[in-house]
Amino acid sequence: MKKNPCLEINLEKLRHNATTIHKLCDAIGIEVIGITKGFTAIPEIAQIMIESGITALGDSRLDNIQSLRAAGIEAEMMLIRIPMLHEVDRVVSLACCSLNSEISVIKALSAAAVQQGKTHDILLMVDLGDLREGVLPEEVENTVQQILPLKGIRLRGFGVNFNCLSGVKPTTENLLELVCLAEKIGDTLGIPMDTLSGGSTSSLELVTKGMVPKGINQLRIGEGILLGHSDIFTDLEDTFQDSFILSAEIIELKHKESTPKGIVGLDSFGQIPNQKVGGIRKRAILAIGKQDVYPDHMSPVDDKIGILAASSDHLIVDVTDSSVEYQVGGEIRFKLSYPGILSTTTSKFVTIHFSREIES
Ligand SMILES: *Cc1c(COP(=O)(O)O)cnc(C)c1O
Repeated sequence: MKKNPCLEINLEKLRHNATTIHKLCDAIGIEVIGITKGFTAIPEIAQIMIESGITALGDSRLDNIQSLRAAGIEAEMMLIRIPMLHEVDRVVSLACCSLNSEISVIKALSAAAVQQGKTHDILLMVDLGDLREGVLPEEVENTVQQILPLKGIRLRGFGVNFNCLSGVKPTTENLLELVCLAEKIGDTLGIPMDTLSGGSTSSLELVTKGMVPKGINQLRIGEGILLGHSDIFTDLEDTFQDSFILSAEIIELKHKESTPKGIVGLDSFGQIPNQKVGGIRKRAILAIGKQDVYPDHMSPVDDKIGILAASSDHLIVDVTDSSVEYQVGGEIRFKLSYPGILSTTTSKFVTIHFSREIES
């Protein structure tokens, strides 16, 4: 018997997605780093990524990397959130490579690497407009000059991030800016830049259109593998979008008025509740809530169901128009968006169940 709420993860669908993306990138000389932060680095999924041909993994949190190591995953691992100054020792011992943008942190990584007798690889992040991590293009050369003499540190190349903060999209032009910068600095300082890491899932769109400039040879892909798309609106060909299905149990099912009775103030999260009109409707309460996942990040598999509202532990849906005879004790299933996968895999109240069948 499965215990609700339950997140069912279809490993064969994920294998298919990872294989499709790996092949797509491999064909044009791009290495895929499989990003595991979106699912709290569940080792079964990480293992599927590796079996699909992906040779290196990346995560933003050292605890996730540590749990992958503890689970016996031996692939190369990259820390993709620029490190906290206090964690440099753990960075060097757990990750082969990290993304960086602060010289003080890189110096501390150098000291940690020397102390541990290791060489730690870094990619220097360059901010090409998204305004999250990265040194500004005009500061890159100076920063590289400060990195080169550091012992225990090997500068492998540059990385860039798009979409994450300001929604700036990767384009042939801004990726070319990274390639040109690498060539210029490589020539001036006489050092080869062997890795140019051109962003995340949002760069897959350019891969499918053959628009990634020559020189970009790595992408860091999480969402594309999990959800089979290149952005929220575009599905990738030959991938599945429903590898993660959440089910929650019905704990109340009643016909009730749509409009609340009494004086309406703020809800339990300090928001003004959406006032609904519509007469008597059949409402189901599910035993899941914002502590597990926010309702914006889930959509019912039964498309005749509408999500009404949620509090920390209750989700209320309208099942009036559905042709399914739902019952108390039964369950309702949902597809999840990326933040939905992130929060349900983080919630300790959601059990995880793996399936391996692809229904035809
Ligand atoms: C999260 C993240 C990625 C992966 O993003 P997806 O959209 O899941 O592909 C890549 N690089 C960095 C630096 C990230 O923080």
